Amino acid sequence: MIYKRSSALFSEAQKVIPGGVNSPVRAFKAVGGDPIFVKRAEGAYLYDEDGNTLIDYINSWGPMILGHAYPSVVNAVIEKTKKGTSFGMPTEIETEIAKLAVSMVPNIDKIRFVNSGTEACMSAVRLARGYTGKDKIIKFAGCYHGHSDSFLIQAGSGAVTFGSPNSPGVTKGTAQDTLLASYNDIESVTTLVENNRDEIACIIIEPVPGNMGCIPPSDGFLQSLRKVCDENDILLIFDEVMTGFRLAKGGAQELYGINADIVTFGKVIGGGLPVGAFAAREEIMNFLAPLGPVYQAGTLSGNPLAMAAGLAMLTELNSKPQVFESLAKKTEYLHKGLAEVLSRNKVTHTINRVGSMISVHFCETSVTNFETAALANNNTFKKFFHDMLAKGIYIAPSAFETWFLCDALTYEDLDKTIDACNEVSKQL
Ligand SMILES: *Cc1c(COP(=O)(O)O)cnc(C)c1O
Repeated sequence: MIYKRSSALFSEAQKVIPGGVNSPVRAFKAVGGDPIFVKRAEGAYLYDEDGNTLIDYINSWGPMILGHAYPSVVNAVIEKTKKGTSFGMPTEIETEIAKLAVSMVPNIDKIRFVNSGTEACMSAVRLARGYTGKDKIIKFAGCYHGHSDSFLIQAGSGAVTFGSPNSPGVTKGTAQDTLLASYNDIESVTTLVENNRDEIACIIIEPVPGNMGCIPPSDGFLQSLRKVCDENDILLIFDEVMTGFRLAKGGAQELYGINADIVTFGKVIGGGLPVGAFAAREEIMNFLAPLGPVYQAGTLSGNPLAMAAGLAMLTELNSKPQVFESLAKKTEYLHKGLAEVLSRNKVTHTINRVGSMISVHFCETSVTNFETAALANNNTFKKFFHDMLAKGIYIAPSAFETWFLCDALTYEDLDKTIDACNEVSKQL
């Protein structure tokens, strides 16, 4: 495969954009080499600037759950565009998509739209703090909630005390209010709660983490979390930016039968346009301005093009709930196929899967949290990534990312992927 034009475009980009990209993971730092520049995409395929065709397992990191350039989404955006692209005034379509989202997701009465998952999570935490009158939050190591200061925190000297900044520019003061627990480890949570009595506003979690590979919650973990929150007047925030409208119509809340107090969305809810949202029961959402005291705003929030794309996407998913089953079946098929060829070629691996999220870890132990995810062999992953790419299979350029399937993938595509994995794993 040739990447001449992509490499040239990357050189040009680096002159005027830091690292040549507008979001770091795109730069291929974790796997080496130059990133691929996309020209266009349709269905399950990416077409790059050098004329290569790739089977896409990232799907814009999740949003394109039905495949790229999905006709009803594309048409909705085109039609909306002709009528003006932003007004900074209320529009009817905002109520339409809000009604639909509220009807699809359990335990929410009201929803507010923003422009990214980061914004949704940042605002959800502010709302939780305002509502409870408490300052501290608990997050889990390896869970990603966007790049706002409160979330860029790593384990401090004692993981059971407070976190420390993991990016320059995040102040120690901010870091002190974020406590770090370990995913799938309820004791790490109860210890923090006991040591910080009456100080914790919320626990924010990816109910199924997708940002350290895909990690399924162990039996009872999310239930125990719900209980700890109930017993201590702590709000439970499910960050469903990745899982919302992907694992089921009602996301992880529906899949696991657990109600969160605040839910955040992004990715699928925007159908490929920049959209985030956060939602909760009425008494919590009414705390937001202009009804309540917690301030939150956005010039382009509820933008008509973004709402048109999101509404078209949610309408499809709502009218075809069998999509989630179809996706889960395809992902299971891929899982079985990959596991078989990796085992046949004696490549040590662990595969995690929930619904249409799947990740391959090159390690022996099961991957249940950030620590175990970090045990995987990164050199093996790098080679795997580049060899798969050379065979026309595009997976996420980092061992800590999940693959997202889209429903445009055919079983023939999956077989091609499994065959490629078979060839590649002979050389691993
Ligand atoms: C992608 C992601 C975010 C951040 O969303 P952006 O739109 O990139 O700001 C937050 N939480 C989770 C779980 C995500 O996967």
